[in-house]
Amino acid sequence: MQTKPDLDEARRVLQEVFGFADFRPGQAEILQAVLDGDDILAIMPTGAGKSLCYQLPALLRPGLTVVVSPLIALMRDQVEQLKQRGVPAAALNSTNSGQDNAMIEAALLKGRYRLVYVAPERFVRADTLSMLRRAGADLLAIDEAHCVSQWGHDFRPEYRALGESLVALGRPQIVAVTATADGPTRAEIMERLFPAEPRQFIRSFDRPNLRLAMQRKHKPVQQILAMIARHKGESGIIYCASRKGVEKLTEILSAQGIFALPYHAGLAPEIRAAHQDMFVRHENVVIVATIAFGMGIDKPDVRFVCHADLPGSIEAYYQEIGRAGRDGLPADTLTLFGEADIRLRERQIEDNDAAPERKRLDRRKLQELIALCETPRCRRQTLLAAFGEQSEPCGNCDICEGRWPLFDGVVAAQKVMSAILRTSGRFFSGHLAHLLIGHATEAIKRHSHDLLPTFGVGREFTLSEWRSIFHQLHALNLIEQDEEDRDRWCLTQGGRAVLRGEAELTLRGEMALPTGRSADIRK
Ligand code: ADP
Ligand code: ZN
Repeated sequence: MQTKPDLDEARRVLQEVFGFADFRPGQAEILQAVLDGDDILAIMPTGAGKSLCYQLPALLRPGLTVVVSPLIALMRDQVEQLKQRGVPAAALNSTNSGQDNAMIEAALLKGRYRLVYVAPERFVRADTLSMLRRAGADLLAIDEAHCVSQWGHDFRPEYRALGESLVALGRPQIVAVTATADGPTRAEIMERLFPAEPRQFIRSFDRPNLRLAMQRKHKPVQQILAMIARHKGESGIIYCASRKGVEKLTEILSAQGIFALPYHAGLAPEIRAAHQDMFVRHENVVIVATIAFGMGIDKPDVRFVCHADLPGSIEAYYQEIGRAGRDGLPADTLTLFGEADIRLRERQIEDNDAAPERKRLDRRKLQELIALCETPRCRRQTLLAAFGEQSEPCGNCDICEGRWPLFDGVVAAQKVMSAILRTSGRFFSGHLAHLLIGHATEAIKRHSHDLLPTFGVGREFTLSEWRSIFHQLHALNLIEQDEEDRDRWCLTQGGRAVLRGEAELTLRGEMALPTGRSADIRK
């Protein structure tokens, strides 16, 4: 009987074929499990080296490895890299000519390839499945597995059918990998892609070399220019929420003599490819892009990522900043957010005719993101906590660096909380801010909130400062949305302690201190 390949053999192939000295953290355990024949779900941060977890076994096992991958560009890069290493690999997708695809299929049936990458919509076709089965496919790798989740930000309907294709393919071993999976997404991946519970490997999401910072937009262009100035001659990505934003910002930056190139889905494919190529090849290109840019781009030395607008969600934020510093060297991130961004996102959620359950989840995700923007606590702690990870203050974020003025927030918190209680938790930050400041808006009058004792007790702060305080209380888990009734705010146990004056509370001001000054930092 043939013995199973072991880790020593895997290490030999790692060195001889891939030219890497050793495994990266996490890879060895996953490879061992793949070689043992287990079904696997691996959640590892971007840049951790997930591809190797199926590419290397493909070389050690007798059968054909099929990789389903959502992006043609990503497929092409991986196949190119494999070919350069002398690994016979091919891709079946819609950018090949019909003739190319037919030739690849013929070669597959002759056993010419170790790996074949297939676009999901093609993979699920009955003819493709039957061809792959005849070609001896027995390992199915699913890249970017979170695309199966309709709660996720990259939902791909074709991924839904993957689970049902398994029988037609003859029940291959499954290795699903992703960088993004919070609890609900993880559960959905397991349910949709695996016939039985897989072995799970979850590596820390921490990317300690990324400096994290978030700022309210006050002079966004200046804020972005300051970031670029700190990284003269280095590569960076600036994400904008819209194509128009991309165009405008590219113009502004170019006028300042910065080598900036736009990237968005409205540009011709050749232009996009050319700009991406410039970015990857050169060291000093700043790419100004919508979120259309980035998935699958393997550029290790991106030194900064900036969000000119609020990102789509915490996961999107994490994935986008994750494109910086893949080489492990220090890299800088800055996220700008504004009240208009938040309003726009709220409107998009409300105007969307999604199911109520979905809307509620979207609202909650937005709240979490805003809470991260407004948090008085270490950014990394807050970010990792959103992925279920406990950690200590990091020392490498704007909050830890003491760039924000801090103040004793007990009284302010008590005012917000009593406003919440007096309005039965039915109203959100904007309404409560008007209430505290004593603005008799239409809504305030309609609900007779101008008659409440809390009306006008908070004139010491501005509207947006109150909003910020509200979000900070949420970030600190002092207030939360009711479990049953998500449209209702209530106080947590910690919140009640602050309300009774039994706990201390430090909040932060709304504007970061000018660089160089440092605030009294109390945790
Ligand atoms: P992910 O899919 O997890 O974001 P990739 O699989 O694209 O990451 O790998 C990121 C980079 O790390 C690639 O350039 C890859 O070649 C490299 N890499 C992977 N494993 C190793 C290793 N053991 N040693 C050195 N480099 C590695
Ligand atoms: Zn920190």
